[in-house]
Amino acid sequence: MDSVFAERMKSLGTETGFEVLAKARALEKQGKDIVHLEIGEPDFDTPKNIKDAAVRAINADYTHYVPSVGVPELRQAIADHIFKTRNLNVSPEEVVVTSGGKPIMFYTILALVNPGDEVLYPNPGFSTYESLINFVGAKPVPIPLEEKNDFSLDHEYVKKAITKRTKLIIINSPENPTGGILTREDLKAIADGIVNRDDVFVLSDEIYSRIIYEGKHESITALPGMKDKTILLDGFSKTYAMTGWRLGYGVMRKDLTPKFAQLITNSNSCTSAFTQMAGVEALTGPQNEEEKMITEFRKRREVIVKGLNNIKGITCNKPRGAFYAFPNIKGTGMNSRELGEYLMNNGIAVLPGTSFGKYGEGYLRLSFANSVENIKKALDRIAEALEKH
Ligand code: PLP
Repeated sequence: MDSVFAERMKSLGTETGFEVLAKARALEKQGKDIVHLEIGEPDFDTPKNIKDAAVRAINADYTHYVPSVGVPELRQAIADHIFKTRNLNVSPEEVVVTSGGKPIMFYTILALVNPGDEVLYPNPGFSTYESLINFVGAKPVPIPLEEKNDFSLDHEYVKKAITKRTKLIIINSPENPTGGILTREDLKAIADGIVNRDDVFVLSDEIYSRIIYEGKHESITALPGMKDKTILLDGFSKTYAMTGWRLGYGVMRKDLTPKFAQLITNSNSCTSAFTQMAGVEALTGPQNEEEKMITEFRKRREVIVKGLNNIKGITCNKPRGAFYAFPNIKGTGMNSRELGEYLMNNGIAVLPGTSFGKYGEGYLRLSFANSVENIKKALDRIAEALEKH
């Protein structure tokens, strides 16, 4: 069967989250009760003002093809938003709107990375990074994120990992799956290593930039000389509970946008016009629903971290951003995959840390995009399951 597929498909990976979800759904079909802590999406509804804006846009016939890079109204709103949140002056021409934030990863790597180039990326980290690096025949160079550094960067390690073959450095803050954040000093360590290199770029995945519990979000684009070397990725999925709408964007130097436009034209043509108008409302309308969501996440973070630390064999750092706990499970005597499977059979769906790369061994990812009631139920089930193990 494999032989019918193109050679390149052999190097493309996948996101385990979707597979675990499918397994959990299959068990539910057999009548099992499962608490879902595997899913990386807010459990809130998209705010009403955003939904209303989409309906208005449909009725106003925003239902046709639009420019590949996005409608002018949204590109302007994003440029204004970037100024407000990062104090960074960008023009609408530097904004590329896409169907979710994820395509910006694909386009950045397709547009900039040659076979044999080295690409640095966080590990544990979002699995799509490694998958796409392999897909284009580049060399993945993992940057381990360690618990002892609160899942931030080891500056010396990064310095050594940057070589003359480095083409792209992928960073993600706040980070999925660890909840770690990069401080200005961390970002400076990266910038110092490449600021004099015209041939190296940074893909800064800031999709969780608004979901932060301590301090404020720092973007590498704010450091001297870095704006022109960075493709900033952000979007609407997490902040506005809009995962299914598929709306995100990249911000980049003006001369890069035509290549991104070409990739969009050759794949999905453009992002849905009425979805983009809903995006304008999300950025410019009232922000109180989103603030309520973050307050609720903060509450759940307390519950899940405290609960996990009360379970024998498990310890958990407090995530500083995003909505994932990443507990150390080495004391349970099981590896990440074994424990993940064991918990699934005991009614809790979680992701093994190794879904996010080899440095995720010894950890699990638990999403707290679920109610306090369900989180407590999951914690009780985990404690009980480990007790009887
Ligand atoms: N970047 C990270 C780190 C993520 O965790 C996700 C989604 O899980 C994305 C990007 C993709 O977001 P989107 O749904 O906007 O494509």
